[in-house]
Amino acid sequence: MLGAIEAGGTKFVCAVGDSNGKIVERVQIPTAVPEETIPKVLEFFQSYSLDAVGIGSFGPIDVNPESPTYGYITSTPKEGWMNYPFVQSIKEALSVPIGFNTDVNAAALGEATYGAAKDLDSCLYITVGTGIGAGAIVQGKLLQGWSHPEMGHILVRRHPGDQYEGKCGYHQDCLEGLASGPAIEARWGDKGVNLVDREEVWELEGYYLAQALMQYILILSPKKIILGGGVMKQKQVFTNIRKYLVELLNDYVTLPDLHSYIVSPGLGDDAGITGALMLAREAAEK
Ligand code: ADP
Ligand code: ZN
Repeated sequence: MLGAIEAGGTKFVCAVGDSNGKIVERVQIPTAVPEETIPKVLEFFQSYSLDAVGIGSFGPIDVNPESPTYGYITSTPKEGWMNYPFVQSIKEALSVPIGFNTDVNAAALGEATYGAAKDLDSCLYITVGTGIGAGAIVQGKLLQGWSHPEMGHILVRRHPGDQYEGKCGYHQDCLEGLASGPAIEARWGDKGVNLVDREEVWELEGYYLAQALMQYILILSPKKIILGGGVMKQKQVFTNIRKYLVELLNDYVTLPDLHSYIVSPGLGDDAGITGALMLAREAAEK
């Protein structure tokens, strides 16, 4: 049996499942401070005999095995989690191998194994939610260098009519600062879910996300782009992204039909937790 943790800013999803990605039991735990959340996570896993645990975590995190702080959450503004030794605290309690990567890398892995990019050796998974982040599978492997990519914090061209200053605590008007769920709420004065009929909201969202996709396409040339996260529940954003992307690319690169190229997660909301199971499988095999 394998354990999986999808650690998000608002909630932790914990699951046990098998190496085929089948989830047999799961639980949701609110993300409070680690001293509150982690004991509940461990309690859930206590009754299972696990071969390994996979963690897909919000970040930034330290994924460099050579680093003295490997397994830590590094620079989050989330109370209590800055410099938190995530892998170490789970490993100490459960004494099993731990797979550790970002939430979006886990989701990319899940989608590439069982979801919308099944049978492809290349894809990009982007989440547009509380934050913006992306994980890439390149030539069959998760893209990693010095650390993991942080594609949500790229700079985009501002819309001439957009006066909103931006929400990113590090860069102010980076992509996440202009187009995340909290940025939408701050700019328009209401949560995205209450702005469904405000066309201009989703136009602007498409305008910014299309720029990001253009850059990801030009740099990575992914075979499939999967967009998840709360904001992408607004299906009109897909339409607007495709529209602006066609304008921006201006026929310079050839792409597949955009309706099959830019898609929702095949695993729906289970992309991340399924990918965390895959991280556990890898850890068990090592
Ligand atoms: P998280 O990023 O915390 O894991 P989500 O992916 O659900 O969780 O993202 C939450 C953000 O998405 C919030 O800012 C919320 O306002 C926004 N959001 C959630 N559902 C919707 C929706 N149906 N339409 C528009 N925005 C949404
Ligand atoms: Zn930023």
